[in-house]
Amino acid sequence: RVVSPAPTSPNEEAIERALRPKGLREYVGQAKAREQLEIFIGAAKKREEAMDHVLLFGPPGLGKTTLSHIIANELGVNLRQTSGPVLEKPKDLAAILTNLERNDVLFIDEIHRLSPVVEEILYPALEDYQIDIMIGEGPAARSIKLDLQPFTLVGATTRAGMLTNPLRDRFGIVARLEFYSAEELARIVTRSAGLLNVPTDEEGAFEIARRSRGTPRIANRLLRRVRDYAEVKGDGRIGKRIADLALAMLDVDPRGFDVMDRKLLEAVIHRFDGGPVGLDNVAAAIGEEPGTIEDVIEPYLIQQGFLQRTPRGRIATLAAFRHLGVTPPKSAAD
Ligand code: ADP
Repeated sequence: RVVSPAPTSPNEEAIERALRPKGLREYVGQAKAREQLEIFIGAAKKREEAMDHVLLFGPPGLGKTTLSHIIANELGVNLRQTSGPVLEKPKDLAAILTNLERNDVLFIDEIHRLSPVVEEILYPALEDYQIDIMIGEGPAARSIKLDLQPFTLVGATTRAGMLTNPLRDRFGIVARLEFYSAEELARIVTRSAGLLNVPTDEEGAFEIARRSRGTPRIANRLLRRVRDYAEVKGDGRIGKRIADLALAMLDVDPRGFDVMDRKLLEAVIHRFDGGPVGLDNVAAAIGEEPGTIEDVIEPYLIQQGFLQRTPRGRIATLAAFRHLGVTPPKSAAD
């Protein structure tokens, strides 16, 4: 999937790292989150204390990992990075926690996927910088308390609703990342084009930006695909026409929707008369995991006003009918 929101290869991950802004000032958009973080980072630095724990939530590719790196950079401390599914046993997390230096940042991606036994260890660590670990086995086993260095946890999740309440309550700072505007994404594309040495004019950058599903990761990926196209079919420069031709070839439509987006809208409209239809039925109809639909495909369609999520199920809006060139029923939602 061209617009798959997760990195698709180690090569892509390396390029992402290279394109990642290093400081808060370079970080485009997300004004609300940025402003909050600026204040908390400044205060923590002044007091030479660990910053409060931060929860970042929002769809993939919006800059959660990037922000965690920036927080560590701005605080002038180390960043340790791991993820919920990687931490299988309590001792995996204990090993990381006991190795943190004073005021370090620990980033846990997909924090909603921590196993309950691992999450248990995290509570006292977050609250009192202490952990209880079991030493020995069988009847000789006993629990000992270990003191940790103060640290900041940055947790990232696609959906805040999937966190347990006790975990969510332990974050002092909760920031929701929003989809980016086309103008913001155009600034990101222009910056990336500069770093990658691709001559790109304003209109070319904007064309890529407005078809990137509001997502920086997709904007950077499309920029690289359009660059390939421009090198083979043109003179290497990216303008509106080349961007448009390349994106059409990549099956990214004028609204920035890709094959999966259209498949979902088509299923709701053609197979379920525009809805309401339950998530599981949509998932079965398009052969996609319900979780992927909820986390990755739907949020943008909903934000753009093509789909509604109601208690009775998903509903295609008038805009969706029009986009697919289907005459809407009188009852279709605005
Ligand atoms: P997430 O962790 O939310 O999935 P990432 O932080 O990995 O997303 O961001 C994906 C890519 O998008 C990064 O490589 C980075 O280059 C780019 N990016 C994300 N947010 C921004 C931003 N605000 N400004 C510039 N580039 C960004």
